[in-house]
Amino acid sequence: MRIVKGVGEMQNFSREQRAKGRTIGLVPTMGFLHEGHLSLVREAVKQCDCTVVSIFVNPTQFGPNEDLDSYPRDFERDKKLCEKEKVDAIFFPQEQEMYKKPLTFVEVKELSRLLCGKSRPTHFQGVTTVVAKLFNIVRPHRAYFGLKDFQQFVIIKKMVDDLNFDLELVGCPIVRERDGLAMSSRNHYLSPEERKQAVVLNRALSKAQKMFGSGEKNPRKVRKAVLDCIAATSSRVDYVEIVDSESLQPVQEIKKGNLIALAVFFGKTRLIDNRLFE
Ligand code: AMP
Repeated sequence: MRIVKGVGEMQNFSREQRAKGRTIGLVPTMGFLHEGHLSLVREAVKQCDCTVVSIFVNPTQFGPNEDLDSYPRDFERDKKLCEKEKVDAIFFPQEQEMYKKPLTFVEVKELSRLLCGKSRPTHFQGVTTVVAKLFNIVRPHRAYFGLKDFQQFVIIKKMVDDLNFDLELVGCPIVRERDGLAMSSRNHYLSPEERKQAVVLNRALSKAQKMFGSGEKNPRKVRKAVLDCIAATSSRVDYVEIVDSESLQPVQEIKKGNLIALAVFFGKTRLIDNRLFE
């Protein structure tokens, strides 16, 4: 497994792979890998000749009062996990390698202002800019993203369509802990008590699905039930919204395929989760 730190070296590696007729799969991550990340890696290894995992805690997607400095990092552990999964290369650039006083940014308008974008107004511009850069550096045939970050997936899909990136996006299902909590590097911040309480998110989403399954189509009623569920814990809701899964706009009546998405703080830790109504 190659550890590549330079942009030029990564581009050369990808050029060689392409010249040999090998397909490249890219899994962009911020490291501190868990089973959620590894599910994307396994999919890439299965579908592509050469799998590249990028590990970069991207500063431009963090707001001024967010957790950039405390974001968990453990490269040696990540390296072992990637090796075990038969990853071909890790792209592990330093910040100075990725950003040289840039004046160019990629912004997907409108979609980036909804849901998470309301409380994190600069977040998605940071994400789309770094992902566009990674696409140009790694030149993957396929790129793998988790549907845990559903809005991120929708926004990147729009960017790929709008800017004609020549690659296929693959969305992978949410991987959960045994008790239903969606896996996240940020779960690491939770105190034992917060960790216990955080299972409410998946339970609340299940409740929403159950109501829809029994014929409830009114988004206000379902949203209220979800908020009531969460209110039984000492958490702070950022948002709970029921939206169209492409436009991310609120719906008047819930239909199959609509999305319920939420963000909730447990202490200082902001967790997100979502589910498509079925
Ligand atoms: P991150 O390191 O948090 O930026 O995540 C890197 C990629 O892993 C993103 O595409 C995430 O959506 C995906 N991911 C993170 N957690 C999960 C999970 N629990 N299930 C599936 N995918 C995930």
